[in-house]
Amino acid sequence: MAPWEYPDFDEHEGVHFFRDAASGLSAIIAVHSTALGAAAGGCRYWTYARSDEAITDALRLSRGMSYKNAMAGLPMGGGKAVILADPARGKTPELLAAFGKAVDSLGGRYITAEDVGISDADMVQISKFTKHVSGLPVAGAGDAGGDPGPFTAMGVYLGVKAAVRRALKRDDMAGVHVAIQGVGSVGGGLARLLAKDGAKLTLADVNADRAKALAADLGGEAVPADAILTVEADVVSPCALGAILTAESIAALKAPIVAGGANNQLATPEDGWRLHARGITYAPDYVINAGGIINVGLEYLGHGDRAEVEKRIAEIPGRLDKVWEESASISEPSSIVADRMAQRLIGRG
Ligand code: NAD
Repeated sequence: MAPWEYPDFDEHEGVHFFRDAASGLSAIIAVHSTALGAAAGGCRYWTYARSDEAITDALRLSRGMSYKNAMAGLPMGGGKAVILADPARGKTPELLAAFGKAVDSLGGRYITAEDVGISDADMVQISKFTKHVSGLPVAGAGDAGGDPGPFTAMGVYLGVKAAVRRALKRDDMAGVHVAIQGVGSVGGGLARLLAKDGAKLTLADVNADRAKALAADLGGEAVPADAILTVEADVVSPCALGAILTAESIAALKAPIVAGGANNQLATPEDGWRLHARGITYAPDYVINAGGIINVGLEYLGHGDRAEVEKRIAEIPGRLDKVWEESASISEPSSIVADRMAQRLIGRG
């Protein structure tokens, strides 16, 4: 099937397939839009059961990056790479080299960075073969760049506070109950920031020991992973997987706010309507979780230092407020409103 026959094809400017027999690389780079600049988005290293799932992932994630970068005010388009992992061969330096050459062959139309399964050390290896790389370890303490996770966590933290201000009319987080699904780089960072404000934390992770250790450290409670979305909290914060907001899970939510860092939280666009119908304040994922791309985007562009990154991350709550205000005034879900704003910004509205 040609890429344009996939349901997730959205007039992508290019979908590029790469194969390198010597290293075992099979990769797809999808360039959704370069209307605002070179297409930026991470590289995912993942074991796919079928290659059509990898194509769908690249199509969906690259469109998401167009929206995320546009809404973050970055002069960058949206793209995404996926490497189809072959567990028998592994993520070797040769494979990363072949991927770097693939990125380079696009001549800067696509800029890569970390995503699931790819570390900043991997980026260093890739950067030996192309200069179109961001998310490299920082040279100095005040520089932009490096691991995007803590910056994403910072933006999500500010977004959670904005949602609490809006939905609960509260300016401080003391005693506000936040249930966090997934306590890795983003969810763990968020928990630490919230703990400093005296928020009440309930944490869950499929790695139960990780959730228990962090809960013990921060004075929160750990619950089993399958119980976190139904906790009676003020905020549910999905910071693990995508597609966790479904007809069933939305019906079971007991929190008035959903605001978290995971990508693609809605299983389908209709789930945005379901949250809206229940009166749940939802922070569109690509608006609230833009802190990481702001960090690596400014690093790549050479536009400012860490202070500039923090200044731009501090603009996330204002963007969320704009989305929520329009959502309330026209009575449409925040997810739909955000999509429309992003489409206008990339000239597709
Ligand atoms: P991570 O791998 O560091 O952490 C994810 C955590 O979620 C892990 O501890 C994992 O065990 C846990 N987990 C997985 N499935 C789970 C489940 N069903 N229930 C509970 N816990 C589960 O990843 P991360 O960097 O923290 O990213 C988390 C999410 O945020 C992902 O969806 C990612 O795409 C998104 N995101 C991350 C960044 C970033 O800068 N790291 C930026 C934007 C979006």
